[in-house]
Amino acid sequence: MSERVFNFNPGPSTLPVEVLKQAAADVVEFNHCGMGVLEVSHRSPEFMAVAENTEALIRELMGVPDDYKVLFLQGGASSQFAMVPLNLVGPGKKATYLNTGTWAKKAIKEAKMIADVQVAYSSEETSFDHVPTVNDYQVDGDSEYLYLVSNNTIYGTQFPEFPGHPTLVADMSSDILSRTLDVSRFGIIFAGAQKNMGTAGVTVVIIRNDLINRAPENLPTMFRYKTHADKGSMFNTPPCFSIHVLGLTMRWLKERGGVAAMEATNRKKAAVLYQAIDATDFYRGHARNGSRSLMNVTFNLPTPELEARFIKEAAAVNLKGIKGHRSIGGCRASIYNAFPGEGIDRLVEFMAGFEKKHG
Ligand SMILES: *Cc1c(COP(=O)(O)O)cnc(C)c1O
Repeated sequence: MSERVFNFNPGPSTLPVEVLKQAAADVVEFNHCGMGVLEVSHRSPEFMAVAENTEALIRELMGVPDDYKVLFLQGGASSQFAMVPLNLVGPGKKATYLNTGTWAKKAIKEAKMIADVQVAYSSEETSFDHVPTVNDYQVDGDSEYLYLVSNNTIYGTQFPEFPGHPTLVADMSSDILSRTLDVSRFGIIFAGAQKNMGTAGVTVVIIRNDLINRAPENLPTMFRYKTHADKGSMFNTPPCFSIHVLGLTMRWLKERGGVAAMEATNRKKAAVLYQAIDATDFYRGHARNGSRSLMNVTFNLPTPELEARFIKEAAAVNLKGIKGHRSIGGCRASIYNAFPGEGIDRLVEFMAGFEKKHG
């Protein structure tokens, strides 16, 4: 095998090597049952235990209250952009969105097909370099829910705290389980697993019970939260392997002290990198202070040519996936839970050397 690189990709992204090894072994033989985890029936006791344990670990790690369901759905986080309004608002009803980047825009586009959408705030004019505070916008009183993206994966901004709303909906695809939070302040939290939780194929939806049965009568079966909630996410064949990898990652997280311990590590990791960026004029952070993401650190060099060279030379020393999203260019280091601190030290060292050569 070739040497394992430091993988800064935004998603799919790096996973703990212990998780990868266990998942690989389980593909061939799972739990001494004479077959692999890809082959067992989703209704077998072996797989039911996987799904139950995975859900229990998420509940424990995030402190999910009893009046919330945890669902394992397919279609990616992107399907939730439509499922949320389809289930929560009837025709002519209003929903409020905070436009803080590409993923929020995509959600707004879907919601507009279904609901009367109020965009209460947008940071588009400044290239989405910040998120709003509660004083920056107002939510109409007759709005069914307030929707935000807790971490803006592409722009590298993150809500340091959350507004209050009776039905707060959050896309946490790129920062779920990276910091402690009070689930009871949310109506729905959803996240594709492939960034901070596991592998592509499963989307976790945490939904308060009173929101499950709001959908109009004519909403087709598969798009109703109730369908999946009533059947423990086993209405149809669930993404078994993705749920298994999610469970293994949850176990890994728990063994490392849980979300609070992860948050402390994430804060340290991000601080080291932001310090390196702030130390010189050669590197410039994209996100404003107060909005900086702990998960995706975005920065620029003096010219696009230098950026291209930086990305290429970094890759040559096994610092891979550091190219920024095509919509903003520059560089982005995605440093999720499973990204090791050692990789940050290596990047910071590389940055200093690169500046010396080209600065
Ligand atoms: C990646 C991402 C998505 C899209 O996730 P898919 O599972 O690919 O649909 C949505 N929201 C955020 C914040 C993301 O980072």
